[in-house]
Amino acid sequence: MLPYGRQNVTDADVEAVTSALRSDWLTTGPRVVSFEDDLARVAGAPCVAVINGTAALHTAYAAAGVGPGDEVVTTPMTFYATAGTASMLGATVVFADVEEDTANLDPYAAEAAVTGRTRAIAAVDYAGHPAEYDALRKVADSADAVLIADAAHAIGSAYRGRPVGTLADLTTFSFFPTKNLTTGEGGAVATADPELLRRARVFRTVGLVRDRDRMRHPDEGGWHQEVHEFGLNYRLPDVLCAMGSSQLVRLPAFKARRQELCARYDELLAGVPGLRLPVTRGHVDPMRHLYPVRVLDGRRREVFDRMRAAGIGVQVNYVPAYWHPVYKDLGYRRGMCPNAEAFYAEELSLPLFYDLTDADQDRVVEALRTILES
Ligand SMILES: *Cc1c(COP(=O)(O)O)cnc(C)c1O
Repeated sequence: MLPYGRQNVTDADVEAVTSALRSDWLTTGPRVVSFEDDLARVAGAPCVAVINGTAALHTAYAAAGVGPGDEVVTTPMTFYATAGTASMLGATVVFADVEEDTANLDPYAAEAAVTGRTRAIAAVDYAGHPAEYDALRKVADSADAVLIADAAHAIGSAYRGRPVGTLADLTTFSFFPTKNLTTGEGGAVATADPELLRRARVFRTVGLVRDRDRMRHPDEGGWHQEVHEFGLNYRLPDVLCAMGSSQLVRLPAFKARRQELCARYDELLAGVPGLRLPVTRGHVDPMRHLYPVRVLDGRRREVFDRMRAAGIGVQVNYVPAYWHPVYKDLGYRRGMCPNAEAFYAEELSLPLFYDLTDADQDRVVEALRTILES
């Protein structure tokens, strides 16, 4: 089966990992600092490495002080974790609808969803296309809310010439193998705000405060560290950070190839009946994680099944987050976000990854064309 996404691992990555394994530090060592520095150069803001993208979201919300009594406005067109980690902190998640074309959080819908209890607004750069951050920034500022970007799809993308990582107060990344770069499991939180950065670091490190100036009991002894707020061990080990730094060297090549493949899909699929292709806004330079087409005329499920039967690993991203039974059980009802539901009903992600060959891509296009023309 041709996968919809897959990692690219080279000898350089393997060497980076084995040299970390032979070093004094398997975790909490110098490769963590190096990876965070390398990431910061791409993200345009200081970064905290964490064990996965879900942990990055949990850490970002915790750093923002999200808790019981707070509301978090977010998009349903995402992997469940964007919402679930806020719910786990005790916040009430308010789903606002997406733009009809990009499937990103609609700033007008977000504005309408804001209340006096809104603590954070969390956008997702769906498929790698940045959300409308200038408009979202205005909504967040007027609500006195923290703006969060779930950029699990979008490391390497830019919006109005600014890199993803600088567009929100807190930005989260995932380095799962299907994403734009990988450490196996991995993630990060980027923020230019020193206080949010400090809070993210402490939460990621079991809540441990080691800075003597901040301790309530600084004279306890040289061994002393203390916890002021609950945290978790979300550290990314040196072994995986080594792989991350090695992967980041190839990020420009990853981006170029993904853009080339998207341009080929745009060209090869233009005019295929019953299909709508993804849009790219003029002020956006996306590094696409997904190539999401829309299958019209109620044929998405049939096309999904026939593509899979043809050995082509298409995927659907995503079932609206509030359709998950955990939200249904909390009283969230279908019909809340019509654009997101209409998008979900038609969405199909075609294979897109660095090592996808032109020949394999041609096969995907041919299979899709054959199905849609029959
Ligand atoms: C992958 C993903 C996550 C979670 O990342 P993991 O590393 O798998 O925990 C969160 N949000 C979005 C939009 C994602 O695609």
